[in-house]
Amino acid sequence: MEKQARIYVAGHRGMVGSAIIRKLQAEGYTTIITRTSSELDLRDQAAVASFFEQERPEYVFLAAAKVGGIMANNTYRAEFLYDNLMIESNIIHQAYKTSVKKLLFLGSSCIYPKLAPQPLKEEYLLSGFLESTNEPYAIAKITGIKLCESYRSQYGCDFISAMPTNLYGPNDNYDLQGSHVLPALIRKFHEAKINNQPTVEVWGTGSPMREFLHADDLADACFFLMEHYNDELFVNIGTGEDVTIREVAELIKEIVGFEGELRWNTEKPDGTPRKLMDVSRLHNMGWKHTTELKEGLERTYQDFLANEVLYVE
Ligand code: GDP
Repeated sequence: MEKQARIYVAGHRGMVGSAIIRKLQAEGYTTIITRTSSELDLRDQAAVASFFEQERPEYVFLAAAKVGGIMANNTYRAEFLYDNLMIESNIIHQAYKTSVKKLLFLGSSCIYPKLAPQPLKEEYLLSGFLESTNEPYAIAKITGIKLCESYRSQYGCDFISAMPTNLYGPNDNYDLQGSHVLPALIRKFHEAKINNQPTVEVWGTGSPMREFLHADDLADACFFLMEHYNDELFVNIGTGEDVTIREVAELIKEIVGFEGELRWNTEKPDGTPRKLMDVSRLHNMGWKHTTELKEGLERTYQDFLANEVLYVE
């Protein structure tokens, strides 16, 4: 990508999109195109078509999506399916119609079957049943992969897909009903510390395992793939290391400095038992993450403290 290239980052206000913008700015890109959701409803086919005709982006990072943690996915099942299908169909189709040079679509590790062997290799896609709590979201993301593959094979479009593991970092969602586990626990432990509460409720049994990647590492990997990868098969992005929810809860408790007890609420779902990515293809291409979990969580807690008013409305 030339430094003057017209680059559209869809979803620039989210955790992933904002990290991609920081990366592009740091690399000296000058023509980054963005729209807020109130300026452009990505579910609206006609609006997306006229946006692409007017702005003519040359490169697209597709980081716009309806996202959320286990409760949000399980509750707003129709929205997670419909919104994500519309967003990705509209953008990918218009990218084809307006001859975008390259597009990167971002999915999620929940595309893999619930009981797939671990670590998850790219070839395990569609080899078994999905985890039910996030099946609608996963189906939408699998469709996004298939759109990129199909527009590549039928029309020769250079559209690639990347599947990140669980992410965390600045601009995450701290709403306790909708958020993922790390922002939820940062907020819960912080508020319990401030209010001198003796216990904090943590969901599930604590035994599921999750892999976590800092959003800035993800943005770095996306940039790397945009520069160096142009093949049909999507690419896993992660650290290749995972921890139990219990371990990560203890770690956040320590970083925040909460001194009370954890109370495990087993009425809440555990979700999939494990979803560790096999990142050997990405490693073989020459990319590896740089932020370790403890350091990343310390930075994220500092960011939470600096932006608490914004994050907790
Ligand atoms: P998932 O990776 O799609 O399952 O999404 P989450 O990040 O929401 O949840 C990961 C795991 O953390 C699940 O086993 C949850 O039950 C567990 N967990 C523990 N406490 C919390 C919490 O306060 N919020 C969320 N979202 N998950 C929690």
